[in-house]
Amino acid sequence: MDKDRYSRQIRFRAIGENGQTALSQKHVIVIGAGALGSGIAETLTRAGIGTLTIIDRDYVESSNLQRQSLYSNADAAARLPKAIAARNRLNEINPDVVIHAHVLDAAPADLEKLVPGADLLMDGTDNFDTRLIVNDLAQKHGIPWIYGACVGSSGMSFTILPGSTPCLSCLLASGIMTGETCDIGGIVAPAVQAVVAHQTVEALKLLTGNEMDLRQTFLTFDLWRNQHYEVDLSGMRNPGCPSCGSERTYPHLAAGSRLKAAVLCGRDTVQLRPSNGLPLNLNQLAELLERLDGHLDRNPYLLSYSHEDKRLVFFPDGRVLVHGTNSIAEAKRLYHGLIG
Ligand SMILES: [Zn+2]
Repeated sequence: MDKDRYSRQIRFRAIGENGQTALSQKHVIVIGAGALGSGIAETLTRAGIGTLTIIDRDYVESSNLQRQSLYSNADAAARLPKAIAARNRLNEINPDVVIHAHVLDAAPADLEKLVPGADLLMDGTDNFDTRLIVNDLAQKHGIPWIYGACVGSSGMSFTILPGSTPCLSCLLASGIMTGETCDIGGIVAPAVQAVVAHQTVEALKLLTGNEMDLRQTFLTFDLWRNQHYEVDLSGMRNPGCPSCGSERTYPHLAAGSRLKAAVLCGRDTVQLRPSNGLPLNLNQLAELLERLDGHLDRNPYLLSYSHEDKRLVFFPDGRVLVHGTNSIAEAKRLYHGLIG
């Protein structure tokens, strides 16, 4: 371990050399590499985590750059997948950290292969579909995870410890988390940074053996309105919860529980995922699309086809993002029109 690199963190008494050594042996998975995931991944990489796995389904666009701290103009111009662009940048920041990048949708089967054995899961997602899958996996494998969300100038975070705190399903059933909306209302970067700070300081406590210092409350704040609330949710654990109760079914891991088409909130985009699970041959598809009227762009990770005001982006795992519509029916029509 490069002690000079971490000298200020080692000097921080609650971490010390023992905490730093513990950190260097830990494996954290960040699900989602948007605004929160970027900040989480950067903080943990600079802190000297042993291994970081980054999972993200999307690619970098210029509208991300205002708040997604790992990405550059060049990444957006090349439409690099976020997981790949994140890994490139993190390797520059700290080559001692082992970074695994996965360009995929966080479907239960995909995550089930990656999650076992990890020390901590970090929520960098922007939707409850994925968070509920992460929540079920965390409970099933006994791994802590740290929820985070932000919109506008507000944010929230909660640290979920299997066997100890209520889980996300308990909280959703209690009604405390309703009313959260997508990012149509916009977002300012400091809200992201504040949520990242609260998530990653809890991560550092957990990973360096300082569990007794965990916050233990559900936190919400609004930086613009100068508001800060903490709520004690320890009584919210539901013994009948299907995710963390005494008779568990892990409902969000069941096959077919996910939509095959999803409108991506606030992005005028529909994601389609073929139910056959077969990979797409991008070379064959490129040959086909080249004969059509639209404009074709590609890099080693994806194929982008624009025609009139619509753009379809194809990934090798079979997923397609249809930009320029919020209609699942229209997205499916365009998709079937191109690849049958
Ligand atoms: Zn629960």
